[in-house]
Amino acid sequence: MKLVVVGAGAAGTASAWAASSRADVIVLCDRDGDTALAGGALLTGGADDVPLSFSETAAVTEFFEKLNYWRLQPDRVVSDTGMLLACAGLTDWQLPASRFDALQEGATVGVVAWGTNESESRLLARALREQLAAQGLHFEAIAIAGAGRWADTPSADIAGYLDTAPGFAELEAGLKTQCEKLAAALFPPVLGVAENLGTFLEKSLSLPCGEWAGALRSTAGHRFASRRDALFQAVGVEMRGDRAESLARTADGWKIEFRGGGSLLADRIVLACGGLASGGIRLGSSAETLSGAPAASLSWKAPGDVVLDGTHVSSTGAASGLDLSHLGLDALQRIGLQADRAGGLRAPGLFGAGALLAGRPRTLLEAVVSGLAAGSAAITHV
Ligand SMILES: Cc1cc2nc3c(=O)[nH]c(=O)nc-3n(C[C@H](O)[C@H](O)[C@H](O)COP(=O)(O)OP(=O)(O)OC[C@H]3O[C@@H](n4cnc5c(N)ncnc54)[C@H](O)[C@@H]3O)c2cc1C
Repeated sequence: MKLVVVGAGAAGTASAWAASSRADVIVLCDRDGDTALAGGALLTGGADDVPLSFSETAAVTEFFEKLNYWRLQPDRVVSDTGMLLACAGLTDWQLPASRFDALQEGATVGVVAWGTNESESRLLARALREQLAAQGLHFEAIAIAGAGRWADTPSADIAGYLDTAPGFAELEAGLKTQCEKLAAALFPPVLGVAENLGTFLEKSLSLPCGEWAGALRSTAGHRFASRRDALFQAVGVEMRGDRAESLARTADGWKIEFRGGGSLLADRIVLACGGLASGGIRLGSSAETLSGAPAASLSWKAPGDVVLDGTHVSSTGAASGLDLSHLGLDALQRIGLQADRAGGLRAPGLFGAGALLAGRPRTLLEAVVSGLAAGSAAITHV
């Protein structure tokens, strides 16, 4: 069986992996989406807990083991504004806030300025001090000799340098001069792309070391991409840097055409092309609807009506459009394609996953859970 997955973010990666043992899988990836922008922690969207069924938890754990990037372990993570955010899991690079619990009252945690400037680290240290006042911990901004030259450099570039032998030696030597007074060190997302340098530092300096979660300028997207590519190679999934332009039914399957020319035939399709933020769904012109409010549709030609809270808002339906002044901006987070629990869309052999789907939380974990469900359903359902 041949399966084509459109999109290589968290949802597309999980779908491709779930189907890879029983299908020839090709993944199409146009460019980076939300997964590349995310800070990496598996946020719960404010909830204390994410209810997963036993089988979902088992499937996610197995996928995470193979991907070797996330761990499913509820905790809290420090955000780049110094907030402690509930999460269902973190990447190996991030320092779980539960590790602060093991520190003695009065202990000092260094908030390292490296690529961030010292005033940012001072603000972050103050925010953490206030939030963890009950634990009596002291958070202090730490400047490391030489690190100032990286101010305003993208964190991924710094992480790439620290991955090299001279880079790591500089990091280790710089921290060593400070570490006597520290009980733990908290870094921006610079602790390597290929390697998790936090574990090396922790071993050599006997000091808990890890990162806070930073979005947008972060290295998390690069790390995810390198682990995804390694996983695809290990399980024989092919990835193509093509943009799907149209999807149409054939007598016994589907035909995808590419923007740059060429096409592919497939038995099953998983759409994991992201939501409004990453351009999987687009807002169209108000001229497309009867009400004069803008319509929403997939950003390329494929079957599927876009819905919001169960109502069609695409130009192909009896569309009322999206009146955001009435609905509020939150509506943009709920809009998407209607799918059943396994991601089945209203066409045979067509499935959806991730931020493309209507009414599901916009989180990495949801993208993974729905991706695993769609990939498994695609190789079992007729
Ligand atoms: C700035 C930002 C920060 C976030 N931070 C967090 C966080 O820290 N933790 C968290 O849990 N959640 C976070 N989220 C939400 C989370 O990142 C998303 O819900 C999740 O990544 C969605 O994954 P996805 O695979 O569905 O979509 P995406 O990651 O957007 O992937 C879609 C992919 O499809 C490709 N594609 C689209 N159309 C086509 C086409 N026609 N042909 C070929 N390819 C195509 C895109 O190029 C893209 O690669 C954040 C979101 C944003 C926007």
